[in-house]
Amino acid sequence: MAHKIEHFIDGKRMEPSGNTLCNDVNPATGEVLAEVSLDAGEVDVAVASASRAFRGWSETPIGERCQVLFRFKTLLEQHFDELTQLIVNEHGKTTAEARGDVRRGIDCVEYACGAPSLMMGRTLPRIAVSSSFSREREEGIPLDSSLERVPIGVCVGITPFNFPIMVPLWMWPMAVACGNTFILKPSEKVSLCALREVELAHEAGLPPGVLNMVTGGPDVVNQLLAHKDVKAVSFVGSTAVAKHIYKTASAAGKRVQCMAGAKNTMVIMPDANQDAAIDGVIGSSMGNTGQRCLAGSVVVLVGDTPEWFIPRVVEAAKQIKVSSGSEDGCGMGPLIDEASVARVTQAIERGIEAGADLLLDGRDCDLPGAFVGPTIFDNVPHDSALAMEEIFGPVLSILRVESLEDAIAVTHRSPYGNMAVMFTDSGYAANKFKDTAGAGMIGINVGVPAPMAVFPFCGWKDSFFGTLHPNGEDSVRFYTEGRIIVSRWF
Ligand code: NAD
Repeated sequence: MAHKIEHFIDGKRMEPSGNTLCNDVNPATGEVLAEVSLDAGEVDVAVASASRAFRGWSETPIGERCQVLFRFKTLLEQHFDELTQLIVNEHGKTTAEARGDVRRGIDCVEYACGAPSLMMGRTLPRIAVSSSFSREREEGIPLDSSLERVPIGVCVGITPFNFPIMVPLWMWPMAVACGNTFILKPSEKVSLCALREVELAHEAGLPPGVLNMVTGGPDVVNQLLAHKDVKAVSFVGSTAVAKHIYKTASAAGKRVQCMAGAKNTMVIMPDANQDAAIDGVIGSSMGNTGQRCLAGSVVVLVGDTPEWFIPRVVEAAKQIKVSSGSEDGCGMGPLIDEASVARVTQAIERGIEAGADLLLDGRDCDLPGAFVGPTIFDNVPHDSALAMEEIFGPVLSILRVESLEDAIAVTHRSPYGNMAVMFTDSGYAANKFKDTAGAGMIGINVGVPAPMAVFPFCGWKDSFFGTLHPNGEDSVRFYTEGRIIVSRWF
């Protein structure tokens, strides 16, 4: 029988007490890897542990806090292959994609190791001079002012399934580097990866209670949002859940950042470098089996581009080997679960009903797991669900327009604003696109413009709710409060 995945609270694994369970499944084989408790029974224990640890940790010199992260980074490098294999088994990524997940996560840890300079405050001496209170003294008395950045307390991170190692590392390393304590609630679909990450952080020397993990689903999230001792909430996941979390946590007076869903457009201009455009579109739309918030799932072809683009993109997609992620030469692994297969299949059926031309059909993959192969639609109606709604699977929708302005109008109409991409040789077109596409992450001749950890992950519109994004300086500001001191000494 599969074992129940433990929480990690107060520096050790803890058996969940509840019996409402779901299965954690290898999506390539259907094998049940473990069971996940969905009950919220241990939330209060985790928050109490994080609250107790806060004072000691926030008063630990920042250099010492970062030493733990340096050791953690070394452990991540040493366990790189183990973590990669864990992701392949639990999530279904190809080995190369899983390695990317770990590598980009390590980038975030490296960035958080720089917290001593990132958290530094500012000082402005002699902002004013007051008259001397002392008859003996002639000179005035200066007032000095400074800004310090201080931690805020117990922070919570709620993460999605699609980057099981990296997305938690967007959050907790910077939060704890800044002196906060943290509770991670990972996706119930990839809790084994999260548990191993948290365990390695403790091997690196993180004191008990500084980083806790509770498994579970919506009930656990809602109890965390309601807890009076939780000061800040970071969420990554779908837009519907992001809206709920943003509203609930804000109403409870917490600081919130919610990174949400996406429907990203890639515009191909007639003068684009053809090889780069085909590679970029295939990598962006089919990579990670389309399960990326930076997946380019809509292609807008301008002018006579379809003549060369359509046959080449279909041929390239046909060449992708769909299999279990660990198989040699695998180009695309499974979706996360059977529910996703049903959702993606339904989106394909709705596309056919809407009158789009199905050029490549990924349904009925003859494999035992949760597979849908590369799927491509042409002549997609601009206002159809295929063009407007997030599918989160390997489905590429091609729209045709006459001009650059028409292409920008398509991009602009999306309720989402995570990413927009253009392939072109024209600096004029690229500049106009960058300025008017209405997205927070822009790719010019780049299919997945994922920011390095030193920059914020900059979603706009319905792809983000809040003010400060994860990563970059935004994350330091999110996980700290400013304190102003105005002083004078007699
Ligand atoms: P999801 O919204 O289903 O789940 C995300 C987290 O929220 C999980 O931990 C889950 O347990 C919890 N949750 C689910 N339903 C809830 C509810 N009703 N109340 C409270 N909590 C709930 O997302 P997912 O399927 O795991 O991930 C895919 C989504 O994440 C996609 O929409 C994708 O675009 C988005 N995503 C966005 C970014 C970004 O930075 N914008 C990055 C990665 C993924």
